[in-house]
Parts: sequence; structure tokens; C-alpha cells
Amino acid sequence: MTIAPVIPPAGLGTWDLRGKDCVRAVHEALELGYRHVDTAQMYENEREVGRGLRDSRVPRDEVFLTTKLWIDSLTRKAVPKATEECLKRLATEYVDLLLIHWPVADVSLSETLGAMTRLLESGRTRNVGVSNFTLPLWRQALELAPAGVNQIEFHPFLDQESLVRFARERDLRIVAYTPLAKGRVTREPSIVEIARIHGRTPAQVTLRWLIQHPGVAVIPKASRREHLRENLGIFDFELGSSEMRTLSSLGRNLRLVDPGWAPDWSAR
Ligand code: NAP
Repeated sequence: MTIAPVIPPAGLGTWDLRGKDCVRAVHEALELGYRHVDTAQMYENEREVGRGLRDSRVPRDEVFLTTKLWIDSLTRKAVPKATEECLKRLATEYVDLLLIHWPVADVSLSETLGAMTRLLESGRTRNVGVSNFTLPLWRQALELAPAGVNQIEFHPFLDQESLVRFARERDLRIVAYTPLAKGRVTREPSIVEIARIHGRTPAQVTLRWLIQHPGVAVIPKASRREHLRENLGIFDFELGSSEMRTLSSLGRNLRLVDPGWAPDWSAR
């Protein structure tokens, strides 16, 4: 059985954070208490993420750092090479989690995961996992490697019940990306109303709804300090079961990240 890692439930997403803004956001987030940062080879900001980590002076072993291998770096040869380059840019000896960013058809999963497993053995990553994997693909990955984490788009407008149930049954982890539906949750009347009742913001209610699912962590991206602070304020209140159901009922298959190379999402 795959032993899934302990992941701090509230992390910082860094897609689209560049240059000085990225260094500052990572530094501020760590100062505010974040201990989980998400980046990727493809975000072209690993240097800045590493700089923000070092500037904060938070010890490396207190931060859960994730990066992801891009779709052109998944062969037996490319995996160790690309990972070494990521580590060099991040200026760290290891990442806590190394993910396959997207599933691809032209390299076998066993080749990629075999190479990633060797990086587990050499200590260059503490955990391996996948991202954007449908349920059949995740099952396949779990046959090949301890890929106990799947990072997926997950917010109230996109029902992910079958993956969440699978993760719960197998004690696996889901990291919810685009958890605020890129800000759209702040305009949803039923979320606004629940937020009013709790004296919270719609973003906080949404992130709370996500982390109240067992095994789910969130990685909202925020560049503004007030957003960074707000998104961490989700541990001192709780949503009741009817409030949980209200948010769960908002699913309307709204997929905000759906590039041409995405897998067949309808696969069950
Ligand atoms: P998101 O986190 O849902 O939304 C980010 C937007 O919400 C930004 O415009 C941000 O504004 C705003 N925001 C943040 N906190 C807020 C708050 N408290 N109230 C109101 N607005 C708020 O979308 P995302 O960036 O697409 O996703 C988050 C992270 O997931 C990414 O950064 C990346 O790390 C990861 N991701 C992974 C994949 C994948 O394929 N694995 C794909 C997409 C994303 P400000 O910046 O102005 O603060």
C-alpha cells in the first residue's frame, strides 16, 4: 500500500508569479506562516521561488516544496536531467514532491515512474506523484510507483467526487489547484452568504470547504499580501454539513485548465 506524505493543507501556488513579484510573494508567504510552496519546471520561476525561500530564512526542512516535470521531460534519460536542473534553479538538495505535470501518450508511464522512483532512492525527491491524472490513469500509476498524490483542478464549480472518494478510501492525497476558480468564487451568491454568516470571505469559505475533504490540500495563488494572509485564515472555523452540501451542489463541470494535451476527462 502506498504511504502518502503529510502535506501542509494550505500552500502557495506560484503559476504566473515572475521575477521580483515571485521572490516577494514566496518570502511574504513564508513569513506569514505558509510551509508549502508549489512550482513547476514550466512556470519558469524556480530560481525566484528558491530565492524567496532563502530570503525568508525559514529552515529548508520546514517547507514542503513541490515541483513538476514538464511533458517534454518524461523519458528515462530526461527525468533525472530535468530534475537536477530544477534542483539547481531552486538551489536545494531535494524537493518534497516531484510530480508528472500532465499525463502523455508518447512515453510509457512505467518508463517515467521508473526513473522518478530512482530519484526517490537517491534522495533527490522525498515523494513522487502525478497531476491532472484521471481515476484510471492514477490507478495505473499506483500499480507502478508510490504515486500517492494527484494534483488536480478542484473548486466548487468542478465536481471531483470520484477522485476524492478514491483518495479517501486508499488514504491518498489530493492537492486542489485553481481552488478559487481564479477568483470566480468571490462572486457566487451562496458562497458570499455563507461567508457573511461566518464573518469570513468567500475565498476563505471555499478553501475551508476544500480542506474539510479528507486528504485534500489547497494551493491558491496570491500575490497581494492581504490575499496571502486571508488564504491562511481557514483553520479556526468550520463549515456545517448543510453548508458543505451547498458548496458541493455548485458543480457545473467548469474546467478552467483544459489544454489540447489534456487527457479524456470523462474516463472513469
Ligand atoms: P487560483 O488560485 O484559483 O486563483 C488565483 C487568483 O485569485 C489570483 O488572481 C489572485 O489574486 C486571486 N486571489 C487569491 N486569493 C484571493 C482572495 N483571498 N480573495 C480574492 N481573490 C484572491 O488560480 P491558479 O493560480 O490558476 O491556481 C493556483 C495554483 O495552482 C497555481 O498558481 C499553480 O501553482 C497551481 N496550478 C497547477 C496546475 C497543474 O496543471 N498542475 C494548473 C494550474 C494551476 P492576486 O494574485 O492579485 O492576489
